[in-house]
Amino acid sequence: MKPVLAFGGTFDPVHVGHLAVARAVRDAFGAEVRMLPAADPPHRPAPGAGAEARAEMLALAIAGEPGLRLDRRELRRAGPSWTVDSLAELRAELGPQAPLAWVLGADAFRGLPTWHQWARLPELAHLVVVSRPDHDLDGLPEPLATVLSGRRANRPEALETRPAGLWYCLRIPPHPASASELRRRLAEGQPADDWLPAPVSAYIAAHGLYRTRSGGAGV
Ligand code: ATP
Repeated sequence: MKPVLAFGGTFDPVHVGHLAVARAVRDAFGAEVRMLPAADPPHRPAPGAGAEARAEMLALAIAGEPGLRLDRRELRRAGPSWTVDSLAELRAELGPQAPLAWVLGADAFRGLPTWHQWARLPELAHLVVVSRPDHDLDGLPEPLATVLSGRRANRPEALETRPAGLWYCLRIPPHPASASELRRRLAEGQPADDWLPAPVSAYIAAHGLYRTRSGGAGV
């Protein structure tokens, strides 16, 4: 059975680097990617745009794109958007046997041990780690190395053989886009369209988002 792929993030705003990740994962696994915008990110400063606006931008960015779907579950839940809660929900919906995978960039992966109840994540899902410029994927730091020891899958199909517990590293052509650099550029009135899907750029302009360093108007 193909894994259910869940790709979470703040998406503040969604950029072409995120889309490159989602498309590459979809194509490598031959499966749909659900994109989960966070309501209230626990590990970072308050986002520049409101959750509803970030979700709308994500919907615009993936409209008409086969195999990419918006999943609004974190916006419906009260409180911080812990990944462990989203995976527990998905696991309950899918049943104990269905392969489920959480997709994250190499930077997020290295920071995983700071996440809420992070050791439960490999019990609930596989991890698909996508390469990102300037974030090394070799030589895992502790305690990641210990927890994930012997669990590395060397091909995507391996994730179909069990519900959770493996990790797979997907190397993609490097894409330099980052949301924080985008917000900085937008706040300073610099060009940013090279990293933004056109409908997202239009939405940001129409709603006056990210105009100040503190994050713009929000919605
Ligand atoms: P920031 O620049 O503020 O850190 P971001 O661009 O990483 O933001 P997030 O919404 O935090 O945006 O990212 C969601 C997920 O997408 C994370 O797992 C992150 O590692 C991954 N990601 C974002 N941009 C890239 C990229 N250019 N290449 C690979 N992975 C990326």
